[in-house]
Amino acid sequence: MSRPLFPDLPAPVAEAFAVLEQNGCAGYLVGGSVRDRLRGRQPADYDIAVSCEPQKTREIFSDYRCIETGLKHGTLTVVIGGMDLELTTFRKDCAYSDHRHPDEVLFTDDITADLARRDLTVNAMAYRPGEGLRDPFGGRADLRARLIRAVGDPACRFREDSLRILRALRFAAVLDFSVDEETAAAAVSLKGLLSYVSAERIFSELKKLLTGRGAGRILSAFRPVLETALPPLAGYTGAQYVAAAGAAGRMKDPAGAFAALLYFAGPADAEETCRALKTDHAFLKKVSFLCQNAPFTGDKGAALRLKGEVGSAFLCDLRAFCRAMEAPGEAVLTAALQSRLRCLRVRDLALNGRDLARMGFRGPGIGRAQTALLRAVTDGDCKNTPAALRRAAEAFENKEGSP
Ligand code: ATP
Ligand code: MG
Repeated sequence: MSRPLFPDLPAPVAEAFAVLEQNGCAGYLVGGSVRDRLRGRQPADYDIAVSCEPQKTREIFSDYRCIETGLKHGTLTVVIGGMDLELTTFRKDCAYSDHRHPDEVLFTDDITADLARRDLTVNAMAYRPGEGLRDPFGGRADLRARLIRAVGDPACRFREDSLRILRALRFAAVLDFSVDEETAAAAVSLKGLLSYVSAERIFSELKKLLTGRGAGRILSAFRPVLETALPPLAGYTGAQYVAAAGAAGRMKDPAGAFAALLYFAGPADAEETCRALKTDHAFLKKVSFLCQNAPFTGDKGAALRLKGEVGSAFLCDLRAFCRAMEAPGEAVLTAALQSRLRCLRVRDLALNGRDLARMGFRGPGIGRAQTALLRAVTDGDCKNTPAALRRAAEAFENKEGSP
């Protein structure tokens, strides 16, 4: 007898199955957990499809804490032993008039119908303890072949819900799989339907895609789809697109990868794209900083001042970015990151504005003197001690104009 696929189901999951069985309902693990387990990975979460209707599920689990937010769509979250488990009634497909959402939610007691409405063969398998694997669309063979393939006719499935186009590319990038030919052709020819997908969903898929192991390859192969999601890419030359896709594939964090992809559009368009996709502010800030500061052509002093301005974390990101872009800057940024110098900002100077005023500096002359002193310290020409700074300041000729 072959080994069970899930020999070590977490206790809360096993408990949910036991409760379902006791009540005459069938439960199946579905989606990501089955896919991950077949790849020998520990699943991140366990989604369970159940044969009973939502109200029945609610009754069966009345002794447990339940969260009913998804009940309309058939999903009940049951908290067992501190674990949130999503139990979703089997659903079958119907019409999708808006290219994004089914017109209605139709329940069924047929697990195969439930699997048929899922997006990709590798996501359309179900496992029931004691029964084994249900794999009506050859997901296991596709996993072995490292292939992303739509369930059924790819064009129909993408027309129903165009988010699936991006999901297909995302899973191909994350799992580092190829995309089946017919699925790839449908993704490209129906790319225009991405206009029906919300900015937030596009961004969330892109973010995952960009940090996938196969991101560079998928970005290179699907330029028409990427251009539709990120319009500034349409203006790239072939060489720029190849460079941007390659660099994005080498970046580990999503904002860095995003910046690499949009780099040749310039900082203003990169920021505008972030705004259009409704990214969070921290993401936009990072994309904008990277696009503005690479390549880094300053010397070590300039790198130290930038470190004072933006902090080590951003400087580290910029170094990774320059490396991925094969742009200059890596060595000097490394030197600044390793430097022990603590005086990186005007406010770190051992001589403050009042000290300078006492020395006779006036008005804008004070700020200019401070900038010049910081430059001297970070360039290694002056120590950050009151005496050394005073000596340096005395050498500045104009105490009111430029130092
Ligand atoms: P992960 O959570 O690791 O990203 P997952 O496979 O669990 O992967 P989810 O987005 O959580 O992905 O979706 C759960 C399952 O629901 C999928 O495996 C798939 O079977 C189905 N699914 C999700 N979105 C769609 C969709 N747009 N069209 C059809 N089926 C979908
Ligand atoms: Mg999931």
